[in-house]
Amino acid sequence: MRDRFFKALKSIVIKVGSGVISTDTGLDGDRIDALSGDIGALLRAGFEITLVSSGAISAGKGDLNIHGRPQSIPLKQAAAAIGQSRLMRYYKKAFGEQGVKVGQILLTQEDLADRKRYLNARNTVKTLLEYRILPIINENDTVAVEEIRFGDNDNLSSMVTALVEAQLLIILSDVDGLYDRDPRHYADARRISLVEKISSQIEAMAGDSGTQVGTGGMITKLRAAKRAALYGVGTVIVNGRTPHILDRVLQGEDVGTLFLPAAEKMSARKHWIAFTKKPRGKLFLDDGAVAAIVNHGKSLLPSGIRSVEGKFGRGDAVSLCDLSGREIARGVTDYDLSEVMRIMGKKSSNIKDILGYKYHEDVVHRDNMVVGSPPARKDYGNEPDGNASTRP
Ligand code: GLU
Repeated sequence: MRDRFFKALKSIVIKVGSGVISTDTGLDGDRIDALSGDIGALLRAGFEITLVSSGAISAGKGDLNIHGRPQSIPLKQAAAAIGQSRLMRYYKKAFGEQGVKVGQILLTQEDLADRKRYLNARNTVKTLLEYRILPIINENDTVAVEEIRFGDNDNLSSMVTALVEAQLLIILSDVDGLYDRDPRHYADARRISLVEKISSQIEAMAGDSGTQVGTGGMITKLRAAKRAALYGVGTVIVNGRTPHILDRVLQGEDVGTLFLPAAEKMSARKHWIAFTKKPRGKLFLDDGAVAAIVNHGKSLLPSGIRSVEGKFGRGDAVSLCDLSGREIARGVTDYDLSEVMRIMGKKSSNIKDILGYKYHEDVVHRDNMVVGSPPARKDYGNEPDGNASTRP
């Protein structure tokens, strides 16, 4: 099964966590050298690789006399400002010894949520890949305040997988994969070798396990794997401290946990709507509209909208919720907040009379909509400041 899965792969995103390439006090040079050696070999073998690397904060925190993980955002930003250049300097040297040139790309959630900036970022990475230069991507921690943060690099790596249209995501962690229970507390915990579908039962296995140095625990890795799966991409979570682990994964050896891609793949655009674009508001729909969307593949008409909250413009993403507030779909709206407030509950044929113009019959067209409740995400449910609300 595994060897078949790994055959004919070309483009891979490799995410390496801080826990793998740093010690308590800073970067772990030996690990970075080993990783660069392994990636260098894969590049020579013809793989196209994009590296998403954490480690900026751990590389910089020593200069601020911080032990453990910095807690406040300004301290994280300061540590990242110091550490990112140190991290890149180390990578440049280590990959240089492999004859591999590197390029740095720092992203915030906002960069990928805006379609134009998303496409720009994609062009940059693709051009680097074309020239066989290894893109090394991290979150732009120095400017990433809470609202525009990916939050963790597991999340970032799954979005990068869609960005570069990779065929596999490998998450190098400081644990051996997903276990049926927390291996730090249960000696008889068993590694799960293969996950065909990330069910709630599988999510429960991840618990809230976290690492000492990194941001993500197993749960953020599962979410990343789930997003990748919906994009039609498999994910392997393995221990990045194990020597030559990348090669072993690609040889089809039974190491770590392999998450298979979902049977039905989402288009790149829908994936972007579901996971990358941040919803700026919520539209609360009556039961008829919910049924039309969920069961009958329909677009959202203004007549089905009961109330609205948030602050959104035309082209922003919004959550479509039932009256209990549960998200049933997510989509891009053709009308802004003030327009929706005026046309909600009304027939499409009245839009022109009410607004004096009409863009479309529907508020969210089916083609710009992803139905279902996307896997829990950190930012999910957070409303931007200054919300308007028509809710009672
Ligand atoms: N961007 C952070 C860093 O470079 C890491 C975030 C994470 O650990 O997921 O330190």
